[in-house]
Amino acid sequence: MTILAASPCPALDAPDVAPLAAVVGADLSVPLVHGGHARYVNLDYAASAPALRAVADRVAELLPLYASVHRGAGYASVVCTSAYEAARAEIAAFVGAGPDDAVVFTRNTTDALNLLATAVPGFAPGVGVPGAGGVVHLDIEHHANLLPWQRLGARVVRAGGTRAQTVAAVAAELAAAPAALLAVTGASNVTGECPPLAELTSVAHRHGARIVVDGAQLVPHRRVALAESGIDYLAFSGHKIYAPFGAGVLVGRRDWLEAAPPYLAGGGAVREVRLGGTEWAAVPARHEAGTPNVVGAVALAAACRAVAALGAEAVTAHETALVRRLTRGLAGIDGVRPLRLWPSAAGDEPGGESGEADRIGVVTFTVDGYPADLVAQYLSAEHGIGVRDGRFCAHPLLARLTADPAGVRASLGLGSRAADVDRLVTALAELRAHGPAWAYARTEAGCAPDPDPRALPDWLAGGVPGPASACSDQ
Ligand code: PLP
Repeated sequence: MTILAASPCPALDAPDVAPLAAVVGADLSVPLVHGGHARYVNLDYAASAPALRAVADRVAELLPLYASVHRGAGYASVVCTSAYEAARAEIAAFVGAGPDDAVVFTRNTTDALNLLATAVPGFAPGVGVPGAGGVVHLDIEHHANLLPWQRLGARVVRAGGTRAQTVAAVAAELAAAPAALLAVTGASNVTGECPPLAELTSVAHRHGARIVVDGAQLVPHRRVALAESGIDYLAFSGHKIYAPFGAGVLVGRRDWLEAAPPYLAGGGAVREVRLGGTEWAAVPARHEAGTPNVVGAVALAAACRAVAALGAEAVTAHETALVRRLTRGLAGIDGVRPLRLWPSAAGDEPGGESGEADRIGVVTFTVDGYPADLVAQYLSAEHGIGVRDGRFCAHPLLARLTADPAGVRASLGLGSRAADVDRLVTALAELRAHGPAWAYARTEAGCAPDPDPRALPDWLAGGVPGPASACSDQ
């Protein structure tokens, strides 16, 4: 068995990488089961990224002025209305939306894709386009970009072989029967690999379909330019782009959204209500009934501004250096097996199939001899490292990629640094060499340290963490 020495670590013999931006909680210190504390290593950005300091500052600025939008004449209400609409414009600019595109605020990506599902011609009540119909999606999708389409009876294309073969399989499916919409992820939340969006967009258009990109993972990491790329719809979440305040967004072509029934019926979505019937408002108000999440919207726009200010090249370079360090570190540990959609002979080198340029900072792996939940508990309890384990809301993909029931996912972002990656690699090498140093018990709820002496913060009024809850990302 080849095990990396804990230190020095030859695979980590790479230049230091500092955080690219300040995040809230960067210096968080967390308790360990064997006593003492460690700086928390957050390798769970793909689930929810920490707030950027710039985002938290903007929220703090807004809160004293917080008021309901669109309806109040008071000064605070006027400010909030203006901030809310400015956020919409800022997000449109961030994703390069065209003049015909609408920006609809939603709760998150799931909500945005469910909204779009109500607007697909041929499916949405009252929205019909002759000859159109059907949705096609890949088999690698997060459930958020799978279940809304499955409910519509969508067809599924296997994203196997190579990227080029995946594009060819999509083209064949669209040629076999027309579809109104092709739904694809911008980046896999399991492997971090990015499908070839330019090719998929042109294939969709060539066959008369529109394309929606699930940008939940892609948008925080890569520049997406809607009008320039031809992508018709884009959905993403604030909490994955450093704005964990409960807002998401659907951006894209107005006509389907305008023709669709209001996503929710209620105040704000109407022009005129009579007891016998209602005249609905135009998009975006049409799909934003109820009091909107103005704080979330402003935070999301602040995050977009901050990410844009860093520059796409700097974001990619920072992440690429860290992913390279991580994949090389993991490759040096016998029995750690990364999951890949499109593995290549060229491995992780740039330019190869699935090269670094085509992936974001998300890596999922299995560890021989240790179930994924035990690995995640061990990393947290003994090393203060936060990762995600489970099937990542991508059950069909996990079933295809591994015989193990689940994987362990490490994910990176703007606050990540080389030392975070090194801590993970060293801890995994230790696990493979010596096994865990603490005891772990399996209950119905999952695997947990036994005992677990780590106290929750005082403000949570005593108590210790219970066993791992049934993983929310299952
Ligand atoms: N799509 C992808 C690729 C994701 O990774 C996630 C969340 O993990 C979602 C969609 C759903 O995002 P949300 O929970 O914010 O709706």
